[in-house]
Amino acid sequence: MPQKVTSRRKFIKYLSFAGGSLAMGDMGALFTFKDEATPDLVAEMIKQQIKGQIVKDHLLVEEYQTDFGRVIRKEPRLIVVPQDDDDIITVFRIAEKYQVPVSLRGAGHTCYGQSLSDGGILIVNNSRLAESEATIKDGLVTVHSRTQWLALEKQLNGQGLTSPVLTDYLELTVGGTLSVGGYGLRSFQYGAQVDNIKELELILPSGEKTTCSPEKNTDLFRYSLCGLGQLGLISKVKFKPIPYQRYTSVFYVLCTSVKDFIKNIKTILHPDFIKEIDHFSSYWLNGTFIIEIGSSFIEENKAEEEKLKKKIGAQISFYKNSVVKDYHLYLHQIRGNWVERYGVSHHVWEDYIFGIDQLEEFLNRAISETKISQYQNILPALYIVACDTNQTRGIPFSPTYGNNNPMVYSVGFYYMVKYGNSSQLQTAKEHHQGFMKSCLELKGKPYLYGWHDLTENQKIQFYGEDYTKLKSLKKQHDPANIINPGVFVNPGKTAAQKI
Ligand SMILES: Cc1cc2nc3c(=O)[nH]c(=O)nc-3n(C[C@H](O)[C@H](O)[C@H](O)COP(=O)(O)OP(=O)(O)OC[C@H]3O[C@@H](n4cnc5c(N)ncnc54)[C@H](O)[C@@H]3O)c2cc1C
Repeated sequence: MPQKVTSRRKFIKYLSFAGGSLAMGDMGALFTFKDEATPDLVAEMIKQQIKGQIVKDHLLVEEYQTDFGRVIRKEPRLIVVPQDDDDIITVFRIAEKYQVPVSLRGAGHTCYGQSLSDGGILIVNNSRLAESEATIKDGLVTVHSRTQWLALEKQLNGQGLTSPVLTDYLELTVGGTLSVGGYGLRSFQYGAQVDNIKELELILPSGEKTTCSPEKNTDLFRYSLCGLGQLGLISKVKFKPIPYQRYTSVFYVLCTSVKDFIKNIKTILHPDFIKEIDHFSSYWLNGTFIIEIGSSFIEENKAEEEKLKKKIGAQISFYKNSVVKDYHLYLHQIRGNWVERYGVSHHVWEDYIFGIDQLEEFLNRAISETKISQYQNILPALYIVACDTNQTRGIPFSPTYGNNNPMVYSVGFYYMVKYGNSSQLQTAKEHHQGFMKSCLELKGKPYLYGWHDLTENQKIQFYGEDYTKLKSLKKQHDPANIINPGVFVNPGKTAAQKI
């Protein structure tokens, strides 16, 4: 008779994963199989029934044991790269039958282990193909969630189109960013990526495929977007692209204090000025804020650029102006190179979202409380983008949801800690705990892709009835808590897990 595996140590040994120390996260949903035969049986059934791959290459296995954050490590029992939706459905059905947890991963760019599996099956829904397979019909793009935004953008640009909102770094999957929000340079006009989704297809934990939109299966639509995969896997989405303007005239504004920064933002994002621009972002680097604003053109046009320079210069003092071709692709490159400069690091990243007055208070607090300029070796940058809340489409876990300000600001604190430096890692985590406390006091919201370390009580304080609603939808569609257990909703102990 096989023995039931009970202790965590035995369980991990039993999984027989080779090598490496195991630094588990606090939010793990430690999973125990019903008996010793089940894991092999499940693995064998999946291998036989899917067309996609089971990952064996040890470098890839290692990659999938952690996420971009490189703080939390978890070991999946089986890593599946599905070939198509039928493979995903097959895995979901087998998992449901044998009560084995399934975790979902796109490009794995979370920072708190949200895309890892603790001993269950990990589905890697990430196409590394340089070409996207999106289709365009009746003015709408239909794209699979595994597609990376970079490939999609190149395809759309080739047809004179672009996505309304793009993240700065683009090797992220459509499904991954839509499960958290998706903000960028054009969010001050178009909202988040989730606000632009007209329809989505969701594979429910039962394996059933369902179409959701603001009019159809509304709850599933509203709670699967920004839903961290709690209700199933978003397989396809539809959105309306916008015309592509290849050349961007970019203006750089320097601000030496929080006060100066806020004053400039107020001028730039004022209704009188805002129509002149279609790009807005800002940074805090080496103790100074830099605002980047831009206006795009289809063709290079010196006369138009000069006219724009005069208009902008009349209201804002900029220190530099340049014309950039394919700005989003350029930014992607810059962002990727910037991250690479820090080598193998723990990325303790999190963004917090506020209205303008709360942003000012938050920055004042953050900068003085932690004296962040003293920590520039581990906190090299803050990144701030704006989002028009009139575009917010009732997605309860979107960090802009419920904010009464017409424009909100996301400020990201990107700690880069040299791998293994546990005291600096502790400092970064403590700073974030302080920021989260301020975020709660100032009625802001955290961005859930990041290092958030939220307690159950904090989740209730931030999301109130929406958290209860998400829990009840999870209970309805995933009663045994099979899909992405431990990632966000804490439904208590279930048959399939021991927390
Ligand atoms: C370098 C870098 C730059 C970034 N820049 C920006 C930016 O400019 N703007 C911005 O808004 N964000 C930005 N982010 C945050 C980014 O949007 C999120 O980390 C996003 O989740 C990454 O997508 P991914 O494919 O890596 O998703 P993953 O990290 O793989 O997954 C994210 C979450 O969604 C779930 N999930 C994944 N795919 C699906 C699916 N198909 N259906 C249901 N659930 C799913 C996962 O289980 C996980 O919980 C950045 C992050 C990094 C590391």
